[in-house]
Amino acid sequence: MSLVVVGSVAFDDVETRYGRRNPVLGGSAAYFSVVASNFTAVNMVAVVGDDFPDEHVDFFKSRSIDIRGLERKPGKTFFWSGKYADDFSTRTTLATHLNVFADFDPVLPESYRSPDFLFLANIHPALQLKVLNMVEGKPFVAGDTMNLWIDAEPVLLKELISRVDLLTINDEEVRLLTGEFNLIKAGRMIQEMGPKYLILKKGEHGALLFLEDSLFFTPAIPLEGFVDPTGAGDSFAGGFMGHLARKGTVDAQTLKEAMFYGAVVASFTVEDYSLERHRTVDYAQIEERFQQLVDFTTL
Ligand code: AMP
Repeated sequence: MSLVVVGSVAFDDVETRYGRRNPVLGGSAAYFSVVASNFTAVNMVAVVGDDFPDEHVDFFKSRSIDIRGLERKPGKTFFWSGKYADDFSTRTTLATHLNVFADFDPVLPESYRSPDFLFLANIHPALQLKVLNMVEGKPFVAGDTMNLWIDAEPVLLKELISRVDLLTINDEEVRLLTGEFNLIKAGRMIQEMGPKYLILKKGEHGALLFLEDSLFFTPAIPLEGFVDPTGAGDSFAGGFMGHLARKGTVDAQTLKEAMFYGAVVASFTVEDYSLERHRTVDYAQIEERFQQLVDFTTL
């Protein structure tokens, strides 16, 4: 089944208690695509500047990622920099330079127009809606967002939310969006806005899947080698959607399995900066950690 992602590809400058790295490959579409490509072929739609090295493009190509939708424009690649508190309880964005992303006008190549699965990664909701309007057929659509858009574009964001099948959002964002502190009530409020399913990400405290009339929970995998949480959410989404796309179904059992795969692949991402850890992880290691997660959570 075909999978399309639209989002950012970036240079990141990241500082955690374990050190600083810059410039490193980042962006929502980069994390999602590299991780999802462990499960299925991925079609990427994003934009980079003429400073984007061939080395990163070659990395995408080496991962069965179709980059016909990766536009290269004159100018600089999107740049984001962030710093984590020593206890990782907060992340401060130090700089966001949109650069070529400022007038990104996503165009889906003809061959991507009728996907079975579509992930609208975190970008301006107007662009997410534009892509949604371009798509033909009836794909399973999942969307992500961030506090920036909840504050700056609430009307467009609510329109987007009303049109996706699944929304991924973190605890802080869902409280901001609904004004409700209790996460279960807040999640149900989002479902009333349209999405049949919701993934509520709680960082190191795991993730909750809201199904139609039940909940499913996956913990985050306990790690000794945790280094940098950047991209964990997009990686989770990549594992989740990658598994759905390879199975070609969205029944409750497959959605629950996808939650575990999301937790597994995100656990690899956070063991190094950027996408470095995924250069060495193979599929057998993903299955091994999946089994560990089953063992961790089964009586
Ligand atoms: P996450 O840690 O899952 O929130 O994702 C972090 C990634 O999001 C980084 O690699 C950034 O390059 C990217 N990012 C940060 N801010 C934005 C933004 N405003 N639009 C698109 N991508 C962003």
